[in-house]
Amino acid sequence: KNSGRHTVCFFDPAMQAALLAHVRLEADLHLALANQQWQLYYQPQVNHHGTITGVEVLLRWQHPERGLVSPGEFIPLLESTGLINDVGEWVLEDACKQLVRWSEHPRLCELTISVNISPLQFRDDHFLRRVNDVFERTRAPLHRLKLEVTESLFLEARDDARDKMLALKAQGVRFSLDDFGTGYSSLAYLAQLPLDQLKIDQSFVQQVLESEANAAIVESTIVLAESLSLEVIAEGVETEAQQSWLLDHDCQAYQGYLFGRPVEAKAFEAMMLA
Ligand code: C2E
Ligand code: MG
Ligand code: MG
Ligand code: MG
Repeated sequence: KNSGRHTVCFFDPAMQAALLAHVRLEADLHLALANQQWQLYYQPQVNHHGTITGVEVLLRWQHPERGLVSPGEFIPLLESTGLINDVGEWVLEDACKQLVRWSEHPRLCELTISVNISPLQFRDDHFLRRVNDVFERTRAPLHRLKLEVTESLFLEARDDARDKMLALKAQGVRFSLDDFGTGYSSLAYLAQLPLDQLKIDQSFVQQVLESEANAAIVESTIVLAESLSLEVIAEGVETEAQQSWLLDHDCQAYQGYLFGRPVEAKAFEAMMLA
């Protein structure tokens, strides 16, 4: 297809190998849940004092031969196979169990946990039932749970998404709009959604000092959040210069390698208790 129309293309060995690798990965995905190859990593979120106030949970796949596979590679596969519903439920349940464990610890009991929810998972007819089952099983403190959704969730069946959000919010769950600015947000609907937080996408944050356009986007997002009474957090903060620019522009919550990479629960706890 890349060579355009009216060209004949033979299936070359490289393409065949790539396709085969893809098919194998997909087969492996089915085994991954049963074989406990999924793992949650935790990345700190900090306030302007540098205090860790919460974490984002990031899924990792420990593949027996390939090692750690990145979400960019397997999330689309989970979505296209429908496995995202089961794996997403496992992620939420594990995160909720972590919240319960931390709530018993004096130094960890105030942490919030943010969990990414795929739009496909959110739109599934059984989503609310599955989430409520997780809540019942774990008895997690829901006011410390945030769900991260992306703008693409609201491209279709927006009322349905909104209703589900309202049902969860009634139980104390909060919502963050992830990767903000990269999707197709219309400002009109933004005000109608029961959101709590805008998360400025890392692509803007990382270029905030180099590109005036990106700086303008970040600045207007901060102002927009403020005027809609939403919290705002910047993701992908890697340098002190970026952080101080953000602070100067009234963004007071950050996530990024500057404050910590995603790590296993044990390493995160060790860092918190050090
Ligand atoms: P995201 O939700 O926007 O997560 C932030 C991503 O940026 C993470 O990549 C994180 O490791 C990375 N990151 C954080 N700080 C920095 C930084 O300072 N510099 C750079 N260069 N990167 C930084 P990761 O873990 O590879 O996840 C990629 C995406 O995969 C996530 O983007 C999210 O969309 C998806 N994902 C991860 N875990 C889950 C999950 O449990 N469920 C669903 N549905 N999606 C997930
Ligand atoms: Mg996220
Ligand atoms: Mg993001
Ligand atoms: Mg992202």
